[in-house]
Amino acid sequence: MRLIKFFTLLICFSVFACTGSKNTDDRIIIEETQEDSRITTEEAIEVHKEETQRELLSSADYDTTLWTDINRIQPDILLDLRYATTNNFLEKQLYECARCFLRPETAKALQKVHLELRTKGYGLLVWDCYRPQSVQRKMWAVMPNPNYVANPERGSMHSRGVAVDATIVDEAGIPLNMGTDFDYFGRAAHYDNRDLPEEVLQNRDLLRATMEKYGLMGIRTEWWHFSMRDLGYPLDEMVWGC
Ligand SMILES: [Zn+2]
Repeated sequence: MRLIKFFTLLICFSVFACTGSKNTDDRIIIEETQEDSRITTEEAIEVHKEETQRELLSSADYDTTLWTDINRIQPDILLDLRYATTNNFLEKQLYECARCFLRPETAKALQKVHLELRTKGYGLLVWDCYRPQSVQRKMWAVMPNPNYVANPERGSMHSRGVAVDATIVDEAGIPLNMGTDFDYFGRAAHYDNRDLPEEVLQNRDLLRATMEKYGLMGIRTEWWHFSMRDLGYPLDEMVWGC
């Protein structure tokens, strides 16, 4: 419908330009019309996409100036939000429902990572995004080891909405071999541990290089964790709706 509206407007504009400007040089009109007609399918599709995006965001049930639900801007990023299930190291469901929220800049960067991976036949699967401070406190109570869980006093980049835990999947949505599962607490998950099969190292390097290209920086102890540290967002308590 948007596309039709766009072309209708385009036609109306051309008709108006022809009938309403008799004193104007015909040559200029023809050139303008030709110029306009070059706003062809590709640009019209682009306009349509932007409008759809705006419509989606305007109907959002959260503050879009502070947050982005990643699947609203990139629906094909796969989610396996482990803390929305009991399949996590706490064996407790911590999120009421599986939605991935990030600060808008971080979400945009992650979208770019995903789109670049897509050109290579891959995509992203996400395990965790923004994590409310209340959840961080629960994690710390179970695992007070700063190598793996940030002390809530200092806060986690996840609670600032600028961190994401993710891996690469193939076209069928199957995760690549990264050597360990998400939240594996041990040396096998360390990025600087190069004592791993070549395939694992290559997969980890592809993930890290693509993430870091768009400003999502990795850490030493968890190959899946990336964040944009300098955005200056505060620790947050926001809890999303279902
Ligand atoms: Zn993380």
